[in-house]
Amino acid sequence: MIAFGMEGELHPHLALISGLKASNQAPLVRIHSECMTGDVFGSKRCDCGAQLDQALVRIGKEGGCLVYLRQEGRGIGLVEKLKAYNLQDGGLDTIQANEALGHPADARSFEDAAAILQALDMTQVRLLTNNPDKVKELEANGVRVVNREPLVIAPLAENASYLEVKRTLMGHWLD
Ligand SMILES: [Zn+2]
Repeated sequence: MIAFGMEGELHPHLALISGLKASNQAPLVRIHSECMTGDVFGSKRCDCGAQLDQALVRIGKEGGCLVYLRQEGRGIGLVEKLKAYNLQDGGLDTIQANEALGHPADARSFEDAAAILQALDMTQVRLLTNNPDKVKELEANGVRVVNREPLVIAPLAENASYLEVKRTLMGHWLD
């Protein structure tokens, strides 16, 4: 595991690397944004924990890298995310809740991930994602996505409406 950040950084981005199993294949890469509730505590409000688990299994098998970005709550931080969850319990969807708190629907950036991949010499990758913005941002920052591979988790009762918002309003490839 490699940590990336300024000297003294308390919350560095992380890269977990698994050696390539087939030398003729581009590394399999997953860019995962921190979600403490999903990643650590297994919350089923979102699909983050299941996506993280599945990505680690595949990268372990095929070789590549998981980039763990410290942008909790789609970039608004843990406290604001928990406030948004309270608003969602009152009937707002995940986008409306963020906007009611004065945040964009998605405040994440994937530029740091592109810089990390470049530092690791992974400039041609197979990217595990459902999110078109990630592909665009990597390509715009010097990392070529030679193949996009889906990472679809079967919806649960608890997160079906969240996934539907991702699909219909945020343009994620979840069909
Ligand atoms: Zn999550």
